[in-house]
Amino acid sequence: MIRTGLIGYPLTNSLSPKLHEAAFAALSLHGECLLYPVAPTESGGLARMTSRIRDGEILGLNVTIPHKQTIMALLDELTPSAQAIGAVNTIYMQGGKLVGHNTDAPGFHTDLTRFLANSISEKKALVIGAGGAARAVVYALLKNGWKVTLAIRRSSVRTASALIASFELDIRDCSMDYVLLEAEEIGRLGNGIRLIVNATPIGMFPKVDSSPWPDHLPFPDRAAVYDLVYHPRQTLLVREAQSAGLQASTGLGMLVEQAALSFACWTGQYVPREVMFAAVEG
Ligand code: NAP
Repeated sequence: MIRTGLIGYPLTNSLSPKLHEAAFAALSLHGECLLYPVAPTESGGLARMTSRIRDGEILGLNVTIPHKQTIMALLDELTPSAQAIGAVNTIYMQGGKLVGHNTDAPGFHTDLTRFLANSISEKKALVIGAGGAARAVVYALLKNGWKVTLAIRRSSVRTASALIASFELDIRDCSMDYVLLEAEEIGRLGNGIRLIVNATPIGMFPKVDSSPWPDHLPFPDRAAVYDLVYHPRQTLLVREAQSAGLQASTGLGMLVEQAALSFACWTGQYVPREVMFAAVEG
């Protein structure tokens, strides 16, 4: 039996078991993906889970909120992207060492590339939020030649400044700044924005009637909108962008890609993406 799973807290709506168990079935592997809720207050909970990988009982784990940063202290090695992003969502043994990797960044970029289908020439992005997912998104965009402006609420100014400072150190030709998530400040950026990414939980179930985009601010004419939120499948942001004639997508494709890349880290096997989409669509 190949044992994998997800650690995080809470884990009530996770799609990980469906995604990975569909992959095991498609590849005729005898495997399981279990949810391992570890409360932040549970002393030694993360260390117990990493020991189970070191002992060979569990092959690998995905890591989600709130442990993507705290898990790093328990690992032997980080991949360069996990190190630069400052967050880990995948762990596994390699060469006798417990390794932490981040598949959110390549997962996002692969799905973004599929979504945009080369329709954009001027690479200027506005990323809303400055948390863990925003760090992965920004890393992927900067590494692929995008200029990035963060749009953040006032309470995130210090986090955003730290994010920018760390990427300026790590990434050559890093072009980044931030504005407040307010109509006037975003409006001042003008029509040059070609991609808007929501990397906040705004619009996520059950608060499906909220959107991160400021009220009464028109979308930039030629922007595409990518919302990392995938529950619901059509967020208010995506519906409003589509009503304004823009190309827009929620983040289910990123979820599938990051899961398939984690699965490959654990098993060395390629999973056809259609298999994973079929397991969670609908
Ligand atoms: P996080 O680390 O908690 O960061 C959330 C960010 O959103 C923070 O910058 C936070 O600002 C900001 N924010 C929260 N509420 C806000 C509000 N009302 N107004 C303005 N800003 C607000 O969470 P995360 O891990 O980055 O995840 C963000 C979202 O991405 C979640 O919905 C998650 O499900 C989704 N996600 C999707 C995928 C995928 O595969 N599609 C992968 C990863 C994450 P403060 O710092 O000021 O609180």
